Amino acid sequence: MRFSKALSRIKPSASIAASQRARELRAEGRDIIALSAGEPDFDTPEHIKQAAERAMAAGKTKYPPVSGIAELREAIVAKFKRDNHLEYSTREVMVSNGGKQVIVNALLATVDEGDEVIIPAPYWVSYPEMVNLCGGTPVIVKSSAENGFKLTGEQLEAAITPRTKWLMFNSPCNPSGAVYSPAEIKALTDVLLEHPQVGIISDDIYEHLVYGDTRFATPVEVEPRLRDRVLVVNGLSKAYAMTGWRVGFAAGPEALIKAMDKIQGQVTSGVNSIAQWAAVEALNGPQQFIAEWQQVFQQRRELVVSMLNDAEGIECQVPEGAFYAYPCCAALIGRTTPEGQRIESDEDFTKALLESEGVALVHGGAFGLSPNFRVSYAAAEEDLRNACERIQRFCASLS
Ligand code: PLP
Repeated sequence: MRFSKALSRIKPSASIAASQRARELRAEGRDIIALSAGEPDFDTPEHIKQAAERAMAAGKTKYPPVSGIAELREAIVAKFKRDNHLEYSTREVMVSNGGKQVIVNALLATVDEGDEVIIPAPYWVSYPEMVNLCGGTPVIVKSSAENGFKLTGEQLEAAITPRTKWLMFNSPCNPSGAVYSPAEIKALTDVLLEHPQVGIISDDIYEHLVYGDTRFATPVEVEPRLRDRVLVVNGLSKAYAMTGWRVGFAAGPEALIKAMDKIQGQVTSGVNSIAQWAAVEALNGPQQFIAEWQQVFQQRRELVVSMLNDAEGIECQVPEGAFYAYPCCAALIGRTTPEGQRIESDEDFTKALLESEGVALVHGGAFGLSPNFRVSYAAAEEDLRNACERIQRFCASLS
């Protein structure tokens, strides 16, 4: 079989590969703690599962409309009004198989060969690959730890060309946990007001996971004049612990939503009808558990950040949101393991850590910014404490 050029343009997901390696080692009988996956360890709340059962029992099992059942699109409209003070009509929202499909739909609908998409690094591993798959050119702009891993207006201005189509914006950010304040967002939207060819794909999937005094804001709320060129991406996976249900959604200009609907209609059709009814309950039902989970994540964040900062050679900023920490291991590059292996990169670091202490993490190179690594703290406190002790022991063993 000769495979397509599109296939050769993409690489597999490093976070899925890390989780896979952890599973293999576990199957060999090794004691492994995997902090590599991007999903909450909580189960989907009972009232949401019950809504799915009711939908099944009521025979809601036929093909749903491509862009989502009317009840869910109405719930999404209400969510944007309630949480983000944004007014959308049901024709300006749609439902897809996770935030992932929303983004691919949007890129397929708008990106031609040679079109550029600005992606601030560190980035979610899938963004550049999605752009590559669609024939576009990812333009990676590295942020710095000094700047809280956030893109500045000057950096954005310098990266824009006449071929720029989109800025891929993600706050709270996977993997850094950075959350942009309204003022930091405004610095970016002010630049984009001067460049009418550039839109924003705002990936708000971690919206509800912000801690302490940090408040979530989304670009179109900060700068309503950009409404016609912003696609808001969101979904149920993270805040509602519904990763396996595969429900994401989008809000944006009607013409773009229509174009995305056309693509989805020829690829997957509407999202699983049962999952859509569960999503209606998730969005319209009680929201209290989100605040409770937020508290749990915040405690885990404090634990992980302080234990990582106690590890020899590791420096970890306090992430403001999501459930990731993104520590720097620059001081350990060039050191040697007790087995005689020299650590040349963050990838060497995470590989040696997995082999010697059984802790699975994802190296920063996969997210476009080294030498760092991502720790997912969406895991039980005992596992987090145990994993951090192992990381401390591993770092202390390097010479
Ligand atoms: N966006 C970001 C930044 C993510 O981290 C993820 C999942 O890891 C997604 C989007 C996609 O989530 P889903 O397709 O489950 O909605």
